[in-house]
Amino acid sequence: MTALVGAKVPPRVKFFFWLALHGRLWTAERRMRHGLQQDTTCIICDQQDETTDHLLASCVFTHEVWHRLLSREGFMHLVPSDDSRLADWWQNTRSSIPKHFRRSFDSLVLLVSWMVWKERNRRTFDKITKTPSQLVALILEEADAWIAACFRCLASRTALAV
Ligand SMILES: [Zn+2]
Repeated sequence: MTALVGAKVPPRVKFFFWLALHGRLWTAERRMRHGLQQDTTCIICDQQDETTDHLLASCVFTHEVWHRLLSREGFMHLVPSDDSRLADWWQNTRSSIPKHFRRSFDSLVLLVSWMVWKERNRRTFDKITKTPSQLVALILEEADAWIAACFRCLASRTALAV
């Protein structure tokens, strides 16, 4: 959690990620536990229960987004696996990369998680669907909008710059 302090992201995104790490997002699974809905199926992949860990770490859609972001320059090993838990994957991965990339990586994790959550909300409430490549384009736009030098440092290393 201390990494969140250093991540260069807006406070509302840090708060969102804090909620995610503490199981406080109103996912379909949590809504069912509170009697608010019956169906817990992930709105994005239609394959598994929509939990926070599924949505932000192990959903096939989220994988595809991470894969597109990280694979080009050999960072594919950082992509979460299909049974990853968000907190474990984030902590294990950040401790496996050089220290000077960690803050950029934290920002990227928060940004991608935020954008996947927004995609989930678009599909749930607005019935609007974006493809993984469309979401990657939005992520890169957002990165430009709210992460300056730190993210560009990582982006240039992973050839994300557009
Ligand atoms: Zn899914």
